[in-house]
Amino acid sequence: IKREKVKDLLVTTTFGKEVIVMGWVKTFRNNQFIALNDGSCMANLQVVVDFEQTPDEILKKITTGAALKITGKLVESLGKGQTVEVKASSVEILGESDAEKFPLQPKKHSLEFLREIAHLRFRTNTFNAVFKIRHHLAFAVHQFFHERGFVYLHTPIITASDAEGAGEMFRVTTLDFDKTPRTETGEVNFKEDFFGRSANLTVSGQLEGELGAMALGEIYTFGPTFRAENSNTTRHLAEFWMIEPEVAFADIEDNMNLAEDLLKYVIKHALENCKDELEFLKNRLLEEEKNKPQAERSELNLLEKLHFCLDNNFERLTYTEAIEILKRSKPNQKKQFNYIIDEWGADLQSEHERYLVEKHFKKPVILTNYPADIKSFYMRQNDEEVNGQKTVAAMDILFPGIGEIVGGSQREERLDKLTQRMQDMGIPQDELYWYLDTRRFGSAPHAGFGLGFERLVLFVTGMTNIRDVIPFPRFPKNAEF
Ligand code: ATP
Ligand code: MG
Ligand code: MG
Ligand code: MG
Repeated sequence: IKREKVKDLLVTTTFGKEVIVMGWVKTFRNNQFIALNDGSCMANLQVVVDFEQTPDEILKKITTGAALKITGKLVESLGKGQTVEVKASSVEILGESDAEKFPLQPKKHSLEFLREIAHLRFRTNTFNAVFKIRHHLAFAVHQFFHERGFVYLHTPIITASDAEGAGEMFRVTTLDFDKTPRTETGEVNFKEDFFGRSANLTVSGQLEGELGAMALGEIYTFGPTFRAENSNTTRHLAEFWMIEPEVAFADIEDNMNLAEDLLKYVIKHALENCKDELEFLKNRLLEEEKNKPQAERSELNLLEKLHFCLDNNFERLTYTEAIEILKRSKPNQKKQFNYIIDEWGADLQSEHERYLVEKHFKKPVILTNYPADIKSFYMRQNDEEVNGQKTVAAMDILFPGIGEIVGGSQREERLDKLTQRMQDMGIPQDELYWYLDTRRFGSAPHAGFGLGFERLVLFVTGMTNIRDVIPFPRFPKNAEF
């Protein structure tokens, strides 16, 4: 269907031209002025209706949410804040919208309310901006790796391996169609022999990714990942997207550099390509900050925060150094960071991570060399011990307002060390024979990481709940559409 997009019309100056535009009504004022949005940008096109020439039957159907086809002339606008408008010669109602029932009224709705009508929140400027930025970030991720010669390797969604060993997997089963699909009590019969073994939705593409890296050299995977997280946090989803590069002949240092470069590259890309969207979200956040007490307002606005991240080197330190800092930290009166770690060996809670990033260093932080006991089996054991305890070449990147955004490591390439560790942790080696074969046949140092895509989108958009940066959030008790 031939039509002009609002985005293009708003910057043209070819007045007098006859155009067709289609979109949804945001507002209709004085039986005359339609604010029309077609999703191509956040701005609306003003359409001026000649109410004397337009039948009442049509006029009363121009309601908030309705879809219209407008034919008219592009003219210079005298209204403030816009240069063009369309003088309609005909208005066709494509889809009516009952204004009484349409939940999106021309006013600002809370994110909590919009989450309840997640199927319609796409129509708001906030979500238009968030999902455009999400798109640009995804595009930039692919561009970054492509420019560097990485191969996009599609790792499986259905797999038998459990990389993290955290027991947060969703099991994959089939309906048993040989029998009645439902038992007498109404329960569904499942059978698990489709794959001849139990299978689950992937929690990470890393182990399979390592197979690729140990042949192609540099690969990345970027796909959906599933974790049956029991927690209802603002940082966890049951279905999220993860970016996982894996690089042969690389060590932990290369890994940190790659992750920092990637994060800066995609943030820069968003700043350059999503100006209107970021400006809108920045102002939205500033509005919200006004409701907070002065002391809790952030020092930097969204754009300044993103630029700050580009202009500064991420702080790099070891887990042990971080523990020393946390031990010295004093709980503040607001009890925001009141849980002081006093034991080497404990895993950092998100409030520790945020203390380091937001209060202590005030910039992104890369922590390395974690205690082996709190990290996965595949991470490379360091030569030197701390307090007589083993550490591994792990790295976590912590971001302001987010906490952990990246988790990665140099991998254990020495077969004897790896199998010893698997034995200590009770991980069956026969099931992972294919993984161990990379160490049996031409093992080499290699490293990689996982970047949680939604956490990246959270950071760049300044949103605060991870359910607001993915179009169809999956979390406990929520998988309707
Ligand atoms: P966390 O400590 O926040 O639970 P994790 O250490 O369990 O994260 P990893 O296994 O290291 O996570 O996964 C790599 C990255 O994937 C994390 O750094 C994070 O950005 C992201 N991530 C992990 N779990 C989730 C989740 N449930 N929802 C969204 N993103 C996640
Ligand atoms: Mg976790
Ligand atoms: Mg973690
Ligand atoms: Mg992690």
